[in-house]
Amino acid sequence: MPVTFIDMSTSAHFSAAPADAIPTSGTVTDRLVEANERYAARFTDPGMDAKPVLNVAVVACMDARLDLHAALGLELGDCHTIRNAGGVVTDDVIRSLTISQRALGTRSVVLIHHTGCGLESLTEEFRHELEMEVGQRPAWAVEAFRDVDQDVRQSMQRVRTSPFLLHTDDIRGFVFDVTTGLLREIDPA
Ligand SMILES: [Zn+2]
Repeated sequence: MPVTFIDMSTSAHFSAAPADAIPTSGTVTDRLVEANERYAARFTDPGMDAKPVLNVAVVACMDARLDLHAALGLELGDCHTIRNAGGVVTDDVIRSLTISQRALGTRSVVLIHHTGCGLESLTEEFRHELEMEVGQRPAWAVEAFRDVDQDVRQSMQRVRTSPFLLHTDDIRGFVFDVTTGLLREIDPA
């Protein structure tokens, strides 16, 4: 039986897009490439350094309803954004944070999970189902969770206890409400 993947994104409608973003033809990637041509036509080199202006790294879920720059008032060049399914602090996120801090000067870490996350409807059984389907168990954990607040706390703890990071004194965690757009801060205790 095929594994049923949950849909962690919103449906692919473009009604809110500006008029110049209306797809013409071809695949979705063609549409993105066309949009890029318009973007590049208006683009001017900001002359920026690779170091984020606000010295902050944001780790967030990849959820399509979370527009990090708009939701946090971020501008081009302000921050590093590190995203995956769930905003989980995996070894690879620690890798990115380590480079962010040690090579590119960031000092603060903001963690953002959200309401209605696809990982709440999965369990570690997902790995078993995958193994049954493809004959190989994935090396990675699904990192499913039941309690989003607790998952944010756990994520903060993973960052705080990493031996590789230089700065662990300004780590804050939040849940983004996809219906109101508001962040709710999670007490680390
Ligand atoms: Zn999510």
